[in-house]
Amino acid sequence: MPAGRYAPSPSGELHLGNLRTGMLAWLFARASGRDFLLRFEDLDLDRTVAGAENQQSQDLHAMGLTFDALDGARLFRQSERMELYADAIARLQQDGLTYECFCSRREIREAARAPHAPTGAYPGTCRDLTEEQRARRRAERPAALRLRAPRSAAGTAEQSSVEDVLLGRITTEVDDFVIQRNDGTPAYNLAVVVDDHLTGVDQVVRGDDLASSTPNQAYLRGLLYGWHAAAEVQYAHVPLVLNTEGQRLAKRDGAVTRAALQEQGIDAASLRDLLLVSLGLPPGPLAQALESFDPTALPTEPWVFQPPGS
Ligand SMILES: [Zn+2]
Repeated sequence: MPAGRYAPSPSGELHLGNLRTGMLAWLFARASGRDFLLRFEDLDLDRTVAGAENQQSQDLHAMGLTFDALDGARLFRQSERMELYADAIARLQQDGLTYECFCSRREIREAARAPHAPTGAYPGTCRDLTEEQRARRRAERPAALRLRAPRSAAGTAEQSSVEDVLLGRITTEVDDFVIQRNDGTPAYNLAVVVDDHLTGVDQVVRGDDLASSTPNQAYLRGLLYGWHAAAEVQYAHVPLVLNTEGQRLAKRDGAVTRAALQEQGIDAASLRDLLLVSLGLPPGPLAQALESFDPTALPTEPWVFQPPGS
């Protein structure tokens, strides 16, 4: 069954911006007859907060979001799928599509880059180390694994493009991005691709701050599961919610979670309506909003929210 998904990190309470993106993901999925899955991205143990998963589930249900079961479970966690990521990494390794990287963040930041290389792209420091150099560096620090992205004979990177329902075509150079962190944890960009493919997700709706990593993910999906499957994924990167200073909304901005808004007298139904109206949709149950949902009529600008009492 083709599916959409909402995939929060259980790192605390969801704020209004997260809830709005979740609603949009639900609307996109249901409007196109897809299943809708709930996936907790809990690979980053340092950020995982006890109880956050329950709280987030309750918040999403309070907004009216419904989820479909996957293999009989109403939700699933990345931490329970480590074998699947290990399989994918092993396949890439066997195909010679990875290499070890020993760089610290600082080394990457300070390394010289080719002219016109995209900001944040890996400068390629470890791409062509000799086996002897690798052995020496392994003794110093554990290696992360990077994708060995294709290059032309002249050394230029290959481009990857996706079509986005809201943003149009997004094209970036395929980067040597990390697929396994140097503590052995599968990297976000790998886990997302493996999960989406293996759970039938062919529609990805998320905040537009993640748009720039999408061509890399689409490329990896093609490598692992075939270009045809990768090309059929529908993407929609939706505008974020900003605070009155124009920054991405965060919990420090005040009453921005369901619980905090409840204390200000805004109950779950009012919060749902507030979010629907911000999307140009009629207030009321989500099923009703679904009837007027038109992806092409969604606002393309961020929504600015001023928390009550601030
Ligand atoms: Zn490196």
